[in-house]
Amino acid sequence: MMCNALRRCILVNTLTMRVMTPEQRRERDRAKYAANPEYYRNKALRYARANKEARAEYTRKYRADNSEKVTASKARAYREHPEKAAAYAKKYRQRHPERNKETWRRQNLKKYGLTPHQVAVMIGQQEGCCASCTNVIMRGTREAKRQAHVDHCHATGRVRGILCQRCNLILGHAKDQPSVLIAAAKYLTDRATRERKNDND
Ligand SMILES: [Zn+2]
Repeated sequence: MMCNALRRCILVNTLTMRVMTPEQRRERDRAKYAANPEYYRNKALRYARANKEARAEYTRKYRADNSEKVTASKARAYREHPEKAAAYAKKYRQRHPERNKETWRRQNLKKYGLTPHQVAVMIGQQEGCCASCTNVIMRGTREAKRQAHVDHCHATGRVRGILCQRCNLILGHAKDQPSVLIAAAKYLTDRATRERKNDND
């Protein structure tokens, strides 16, 4: 038999639970956690370890269903704790060096409104060569002289072609001015002619 006091106690508890607002309930939980943080942390860890797959699935689904919310929250965290975000990014780069390189390439191409696929198509249209000289170029190679560089007009921003590193540097140093390159070519030809003439004299 349940005594009256116990019955009253249960009734009061049930009633207070019912009238508690969500904020009050959170407040109560916060107080419970603050009184024994070690216990609750271990409990959460134990639960996480025992339900790894289910938790991962829940997270995946939540992120897919709330992509805008997740993006906003990430942006907020980045704004509020830039040093934490930088440390995390560094760790991520170290853990996934290949993924990081591909992301960087993708980001870099975004400036020109290009995707990696579009660059590959352009290189194909150039028959695998630099658009200026005949150097064979490749996407994502470690070899510097084979690297593909997107060349764009600095005035209009329009992409002109894919160049090898050397040609890209030459155009950059000449500030995209044909006259500078023509003058340099003329200089080289003149000097070569003069040397030949001196040798023959
Ligand atoms: Zn070239």
